[in-house]
Amino acid sequence: MYRTNTCGELRLTNLDKKTTLAGWVQKARKFGGMIFVDLRDRYGITQLVFNQETNAALCEQAAKLGREWLIQVHGIVAERSNKNPNLPTGDIEIIVSELQILNPAETPPFTIEDESDGGDDLRMKYRYLDLRRNPVRANLELRHAMAFATRSYLNEQKFMEIETPVLVSSTPEGARDFVVPSRLHEGQFYALPQSPQLFKQLLMVSGFDRYFQIVKCFRDEDLRADRQPEFTQIDCEMSFVEQEDILNIFEGLTKYLFKTIKGIDIPDLPRMSYADAMRLYGSDKPDTRFGMQFVEIKDLTEGKGFGVFDSAEYVAAISAEGCAGYTRKQLDELTEFVKRQQIGAKGLIYVRYEADGSIKSSVDKFYTPEELKTWLDRANAQPGDLLLILCGETEKTQKQLCELRLEIGSRLGLRDKNQFNCLWVVDFPLLEFDEELNRYFAKHHPFTSPKIEDSPLLDTNPGAVRANAYDMVINGVEVGGGSIRIFNSELQQKMFTTLGFTKEQAQAQFGFLMNAFKYGAPPHGGIAFGLDRLVSIFAGLDSIRDCIAFPKNNAGRDVMIDAPSAIAPEQLKELHLKLE
Ligand code: ASP
Repeated sequence: MYRTNTCGELRLTNLDKKTTLAGWVQKARKFGGMIFVDLRDRYGITQLVFNQETNAALCEQAAKLGREWLIQVHGIVAERSNKNPNLPTGDIEIIVSELQILNPAETPPFTIEDESDGGDDLRMKYRYLDLRRNPVRANLELRHAMAFATRSYLNEQKFMEIETPVLVSSTPEGARDFVVPSRLHEGQFYALPQSPQLFKQLLMVSGFDRYFQIVKCFRDEDLRADRQPEFTQIDCEMSFVEQEDILNIFEGLTKYLFKTIKGIDIPDLPRMSYADAMRLYGSDKPDTRFGMQFVEIKDLTEGKGFGVFDSAEYVAAISAEGCAGYTRKQLDELTEFVKRQQIGAKGLIYVRYEADGSIKSSVDKFYTPEELKTWLDRANAQPGDLLLILCGETEKTQKQLCELRLEIGSRLGLRDKNQFNCLWVVDFPLLEFDEELNRYFAKHHPFTSPKIEDSPLLDTNPGAVRANAYDMVINGVEVGGGSIRIFNSELQQKMFTTLGFTKEQAQAQFGFLMNAFKYGAPPHGGIAFGLDRLVSIFAGLDSIRDCIAFPKNNAGRDVMIDAPSAIAPEQLKELHLKLE
């Protein structure tokens, strides 16, 4: 038997017990005639003691141990004279009587400590060692617990987990596909699924009225901190439901996860229309941990000779609480922030509402204090607050002001990782017009149902049609999204026409779906949660990478196995591929 106990298990109640432990040497230190070793496994750390006086030969053997050596020891549980209250096993130690070196280790390229000295690249190259570190291991434990709890909740609700294929053909969901060349069918390609969307809808036609799958999805998009080329969704679909039913079931899942995993009771999720989210926060995923909502002040600024505002389509402000005392330097920093290329504002205008009630602004030349006061009042600003104003084309400016709001929120410490504000954003527009391509695109995907009351507008004003689509947002992160689907083949055909598909193109790509709808397709809808994002929010991480066992780096590479990589000429030939 390699071990009778784990390294996280033994307590004072086990005093004098004979035990066998196996694990990695976290640390070894000499202290007079004694050697102390911290032995680590997945469950914790237990202190081992080797005593020169009672067993010199054994002590000599222990003196050779290096970091990360794998050993097995037999010994007796004893009370520690020097207890360590920070360790669950800190009251005991093991008086070792036998030591077996199971596998010596080379010195690891970075320290296997909570705060490692290894940089990102090194840790990724030796990810198997990085995964030995407590914080990383804890993230994977959390991920497991969340996936397990999700399965348990959904199973309880009669959902069936059904696997769908990974070698598929492309579905148009906006992103680029990863493709896999077919050896047997020259010149043809599979695509890796961006989501199991069509399969889960077909499962509804088959009568599996509650489906879920914790499933890998693939999107060949530009990478960001919260994106990976392959990621995991909790993918769900239900039949005989309306939007309300879906929101209830998955609000239930979210509450269940917060309760079972974090012991937090989440209140009922507020709902916000897409239009309000854009108007008040400039984003369809507002961070509602703090207020600082936008106020539009265009009407208050007009006609006073300030051309910048007069010519702008949209002028809006946020009130930064207690920031009236910002120095010139701090204001310059904020101006630089909004002028950065990624944000792209032309400039930033401010009004200081000093603590003594006086008002000073960067546009004093054009506006009297009384006029400025009307802006402050609209924003409900109090003495001591700072009004920050951006202007320009509506949508662009809303996005810029959203970034500024988040930045100020961070600076003021209003984005606490231990506070969780969940909400539903509903009533998304069905379509989005692309000026460049001069055509409509589905905002969610082409299978999303318009709101019945809006569907007559499909012919006259498609841009105004709202969808039965919803997103769940936590702390400014879109953690899930879904919609009620079209289940009627004529409406689906009409949707494809609106999206600019010819009848033939629609038939070639989605004929199977429209055909399936002719065989008694039930009304249905669904949602998919990003498991990686959900775990990273629960873990309080900024990046999803640390809750994935083997993630890709910023450039989409796995530096440990060195993927992607070139393949042999014979393999290329077999796949009927030629490199230029
Ligand atoms: N397939 C959608 C997505 O991946 C989710 C859904 O509509 O259920 O975003």
